[in-house]
Amino acid sequence: MPNPKRRHSRARGRRRRTHWKLTAPNLSDCPQCKAPKMAHRVCPSCGFYDGKPVLDFATKKAKKEEKKKKKGQG
Ligand SMILES: [Zn+2]
Repeated sequence: MPNPKRRHSRARGRRRRTHWKLTAPNLSDCPQCKAPKMAHRVCPSCGFYDGKPVLDFATKKAKKEEKKKKKGQG
């Protein structure tokens, strides 16, 4: 089995770890609602992907509001 010949110093290990994921993920604007979203992912704020509603929580919200309005009236 290959083994390390010498132990690395604490500083050396810490220096190596300084390069671990320092940049934020690249976000692009959603074409539907202009909110920042990750590329190739469904938009978390409007649920659209490729111009189509994939998650229907936008319509769900509207339905909920309609129900609330009905309740208030009745
Ligand atoms: Zn969106």
